[in-house]
Parts: sequence; structure tokens; C-alpha cells
Amino acid sequence: MKDRLLLSIDGMHCSSCAALITRKLKKTPGVEEANVNFASARARIEFDSDKVQVEGLLSAVKAAGYKATVADEKDRDAEKKRAEKEMKMYKKKFLFALVLSLPMLYSMFDPRASVLSFFLATPIQFWLGAGFYRSAWSTLKMKSFNMDSLIVIGTSTAYFYSVYQFLSGAEELYFEVAALLITFVLFGKWLESKAKGKTGEAIQKLMGMQAKTARVLREGVAVDIPVEEVLVGDIVLVRPGEKIPVDGVIVKGSSSVDESMLTGESIPVEKNPESKVFGATMNGHGSFEFRAEKVGADTMLAQIVHFVEDAQGSKAPIQAFADAVSAWFVPAVIGVALLTLIVWLLLGAELSRALLAFVSVIVIACPCALGLATPTSIIVGTGKGAENGILIRGGEALEAAKAVDTIVFDKTGTLTKGRPELTDLIPLQGSRDQALKWAASLEQNSEHPLADAIVRYAKQENVELAAVESFKAIPGHGVEGTVDGQKLYFGNRKLLEKIGQLDSLKEQVLMPLEEQGKTVMILANEQKVLALVAVSDVAKESSSEALTLLKRMGMKIFMITGDNKRTAKALAQTLGIENVLAEVLPQDKANEVKKLQALGHKVAMVGDGINDSPALAQADLGISMGSGTDIAMETGGIVLVKNDLRDIVTALKLSHATVRKIKQNMFFALIYNVIGIPIAAGLFSDFGLVLRPELAGLAMALSSVSVVTNSLLLKRFRPDKFNRL
Ligand code: ADP
Ligand code: MG
Repeated sequence: MKDRLLLSIDGMHCSSCAALITRKLKKTPGVEEANVNFASARARIEFDSDKVQVEGLLSAVKAAGYKATVADEKDRDAEKKRAEKEMKMYKKKFLFALVLSLPMLYSMFDPRASVLSFFLATPIQFWLGAGFYRSAWSTLKMKSFNMDSLIVIGTSTAYFYSVYQFLSGAEELYFEVAALLITFVLFGKWLESKAKGKTGEAIQKLMGMQAKTARVLREGVAVDIPVEEVLVGDIVLVRPGEKIPVDGVIVKGSSSVDESMLTGESIPVEKNPESKVFGATMNGHGSFEFRAEKVGADTMLAQIVHFVEDAQGSKAPIQAFADAVSAWFVPAVIGVALLTLIVWLLLGAELSRALLAFVSVIVIACPCALGLATPTSIIVGTGKGAENGILIRGGEALEAAKAVDTIVFDKTGTLTKGRPELTDLIPLQGSRDQALKWAASLEQNSEHPLADAIVRYAKQENVELAAVESFKAIPGHGVEGTVDGQKLYFGNRKLLEKIGQLDSLKEQVLMPLEEQGKTVMILANEQKVLALVAVSDVAKESSSEALTLLKRMGMKIFMITGDNKRTAKALAQTLGIENVLAEVLPQDKANEVKKLQALGHKVAMVGDGINDSPALAQADLGISMGSGTDIAMETGGIVLVKNDLRDIVTALKLSHATVRKIKQNMFFALIYNVIGIPIAAGLFSDFGLVLRPELAGLAMALSSVSVVTNSLLLKRFRPDKFNRL
């Protein structure tokens, strides 16, 4: 059986550790997919539970030299604690190392202090630096090198050479080189872990939103219980100013609710009986009772957290580049360093000088920062999105969004409110009431928004619905079935083609309604047209603003719908959309997207996922409107939690910003190496330009820190700068 598992991993120092664990996991029989993320310290594994169990996966990670625990869904703080622990450990190690290495600087001026240096450098090397040895050793066991291997080779060279010199009574000692190098690397790790802890803040904030207790009615009495114990069907009481504990539907009372933590929308939303409410949102001044419908992992909050976690653990295609570089870099670095050593010796340099150049090259060339470039940006970028009600499925979606130049909008529920209202009911045969009864009876089995409009109206009119036999919904056409012993059809012209054409007289009634942007449905039996029913679904207030903004960004806009041409054109006109694809059957929507792609466009498809999932999947980027129901189910690379199209503008801008960050980071990461390696190798030593190994260590540390800090700058992204006219 296919299964998925999320592990928390302890002890990763570098992205090459992540690569190593990934390799080890993938080699484990039964593992189908493994993705280890260094920045979030997590592994996502897809496996066949018939072939391998959780214990097997844990021991595979252990065999690679790391500690793994199953990520606890309940203990949301575990992640934070782990990051804090790591940060504190590096801080402590750095401070110890600093205190020990500072007195050594004195020995640079007074060789007699070399005994002192030996005693100070030794604990730094083997106690504070033990982590590097451990990690290098476990990688070596896997016949591989990682960045810690480089640190170990570099510092050990300096240390043991000094010990040799010391024992043979020579004056040239380099204990401080090894000690300062480790100190600086620890410094970098400390700053890096501190900054890395900040990248995941968005998700921790989300997790912290959850209410702790709920007040529910049990046997008629209100009792306070832990939120985990709320059951579906419980009646939950919410008082003014309280946090709503789980998702549900209001049964009594009304209020306004601040949903900004989920949707990013700061204006409170009015809630009345039958309104949906969501866990973690904040009640305003009213009080109400609601029926719990989703609890635990099913709540909107839990789903958002799950989604973002997945996204943050995902890889961007661009990262393949970083991974490839990292994999080849380390052995290459060792090669270049050895070459440096040999060339210097051949040129007749002293051994100590050649060794120092060797150590410098080993250290400066470490591609540590490169491994951080992509994941830290993705974590901050997707976190920022979640804060604003925009869920981005990960690196791939981010990169796709960057390339989009054409946006195709589904009409119903996307551009429009998706809650059509019945406006005209024109009986042509028989009574109005009977037409309504039959239409509504047929539609009661359909889930289409149009059906909902008819049924709602019939209920308002207190029409009693009849039973339907052999009901059939034909996508893009309508519905049919037998009511009161009579075969009936209700839908558009295409549906009617089965029984004949509309005569011109009826067309004359129908067309003007369509020109007003209404959707007209025809009720017919096998002989005759019985009635025409028109519904109107108005555009969302935000649609036209969003479209203007997107056009300004240079996007080509299309509307796609199964509705008829006249209705579609009328709406398109009010919204300023020129390209309309109408009367497209649901299964053909994906084809239309494909056609646009064939013309060379990078297409984003925006839909509600109800009958446009294939099109969402076909598009380069699928953007689905969160209907406030099941986010996990939504197809699409981006999910908009609230139904506001302006969020597309935000999503695109945020994606651009994130991908830009990734590229900047890669540049930052590599520029240190590119500039540093030749200097470290001593190519410019004739000009007095040399790189001492300890300074190489500092530069390397700074490059990691600058990459993480640069990613954190994404937190300053302000959607309101873009998504309003
Ligand atoms: P959209 O592309 O706007 O989501 P659909 O492809 O679902 O629209 O439907 C296209 C057309 O098919 C509708 O405009 C309507 O005329 C007809 N239709 C589909 N389902 C129904 C239904 N349940 N009742 C009546 N008409 C329907
Ligand atoms: Mg639709």
C-alpha cells in the first residue's frame, strides 16, 4: 500500500547532508520518493508500506549518520524547539571557541606562546569541532564527501602540521589558523541557524492560531473541552471576542468574524445562520452557536498548514542546478586544493606556505551557501503567500508563475460570484408553478451552481418537489429525467438538439435575455418546449479591478465557459475582456488551453476546480479558487483561499519576487567561490593579495549568512503595493 511519511531530521549541517540522506532513503527497498529539505530539516517520503515500515525508514536515516523522528502532527512546536536548540548549540560553541582562540592571537607575535596555543587549539579542534568530524565520518562511510569533510580536511591539515612542527621544535605554528577557522565556521552556523529559524515563522504563526479549548453543548449543558475533543456534529458556543475552535455552520445567532489569519482579508465577514465559520478565526461582538462540521486534520487551518508544509518541503526545478553543482563541487574542490599544493611545492615554495594555500582553497570553495539559496527563498515566499491567503504548491508553481503571459478565466464562480439568481421564469405551456416544480425537481440532484439557483428559488416559493426517475446530468448540456411520468429535459440549446430546434419565436424571447448576460435554460418534454428560465450571475466586485491590474502587467486575458456566446460576451464586455471562448464543453476546456500553449503562450488557468480540473492540470499554472471547502483536494499550483481575483496579481508578483531571490542567492553563493578560489590558491600573491585560511572561513560563513538574510528580505513583500488600483 502506498503511504507517506514526514520525518524531522536532526544533525544536518549542510545541504549535502540532505543529498546524502535522500540518496540513502532512495536506495532503501520500498521507498518510491524521498525528498530531504535541509532548510526545514524534514524528509518527505513516499513508500510502499508492504515493503518497508516506518522503523526501516528511521534506521535508513540513522545508517546515514543522522537522527530522525516521525514529525509529530500534534506537537506543532517541535520544529521550533529543534531549531532553537540548534541555534543555542551553535551560539554556545561559537562563544567557547572565541574565548579559547582569542589568546592565541598573541602567539602570532610571540612564538614562545606556542605551548599555550597547542593547549587552546586542541579542545577547539576535537571538542567544539567534533560535529564536523562526526558528519564527515558518516559521509565517508557512504563513500562520499560533504562540506563538513572540507572543513575537517582544512582544519586538520593546519592542526596536525602544527603539531608536527611543534614536536620537532620548529617555530612556524599554525594552531590559530585551525582554531579561528572553526570559530568562524561556528559563527556562520550560528547566524545561519538563527536566520533559518526565522524563515519558517509564517507556518509557526499559522499553527499557533489554533484555539486551545471549545465550549460545546453536551447533554444540554455547556462545557469547556480541549479542542481535540470536539466531535463532528457538536454544537459549539462562541462568545464575543472568542476564537472559533473548529469549522462549522452557524445554527443560531450572528456576528462578524475576523478571518484575516486564514484569508489575509482584514475586513471582518458578516455571519448569519447557515454561514460557514472556520477554526482559528476571531469572533467579533456578536455571539452564536454553530454545528461542528470539520475537526482535527480536516479543518481549513490544518489543511492550510499541511499544504504550506508540503510546499516548503518541495524542490524547485532550478534547484537541480544547485544540487548538481554541490555534488560535483566538493570532490572538485579537493582536487583543486591538491593541485594548488602540488604546484606550490613544484615552484619551490615552503611546505607551510603551500599547505596554507591548500587549506584556504578547501575552505573558501565550500559551496554551503548554494544549498541554502533555493529552499530558504521558497520557505519565506510560500509563507508570505499563506499569510495573504495565497497557497503556492512549491517551487515548481513559483517558477511556472514567473513565466506566465496568458491567463484563462473560467466564467462561473471565478469571474462571477458563482451564486446565480433566478430572474425570469417564462411559461410557454402549462402553469408557471408547474414549470418551476419540474425544473427544480430535476435540478435537486445536480450539483451545478445553476441547479442551486433553481432549487433555492423553488424553495422560496414553497414549491413542493417531485421525485425524479432515471435522472442524468449531462455536463455542459443540462439535466434530464422522468417526473410525474413524463420525460423532461432542462438545459441549454445543445441539450434540446435531441428533440429538435427552438423555433424563431422562442429565440426572440430567449436572445434578449442572453444579451443581458443572463443564462437561459429551456424546460422541455419530448414534444414541446414548456418554459424558459433565466438566471443571472453577476461579476464579483473585485473582478474588473483584478483584470485591469493583470492587463497592466502585460497579461493576455481569456474567458472560457460552457455558457452560450451571447451571455458570455455580455459579461466579458462589462469586464473588458476581449477574448471569449464560449460554449466549450467541460472536457474541451483543457484542449483550448493546449491550443494556446501550442501558440507559444505560458498559460495560467483560473477556475473553481468543479468541472475545470483537467484544464487546471493542462495549464502551465493552475490557479484554483478556494471555495472554502477542501483545499487538499484542489488541483492547481496555486490556491486562493478567498475568492478574490486580485490575489492573482499578488500571487504572480510574489512568485516573481521569490524566483528573483533564488537567482540572486545563487549569485551570492557562487560569487564568493569564484572570487575566492583563485585568491586562496595564491594566484595573486605576487600582488600581495593572499587569503589566510581563517579569513576564507569567515568569507564562507558570511556567504551563507548573506544568502539566508537575502531570503528573509522577502518578508518585506507588501501585496497592497500591487493589488489595488
Ligand atoms: P461553466 O463553464 O460556466 O462552468 P458548464 O460547462 O458547467 O459551465 O455548463 C455549461 C452550460 O451547460 C450552462 O451554461 C448551462 O446552459 C448548461 N448546464 C450545465 N449543467 C446544467 C444544469 N445542471 N442545469 C441546467 N443547465 C445546465
Ligand atoms: Mg465552472
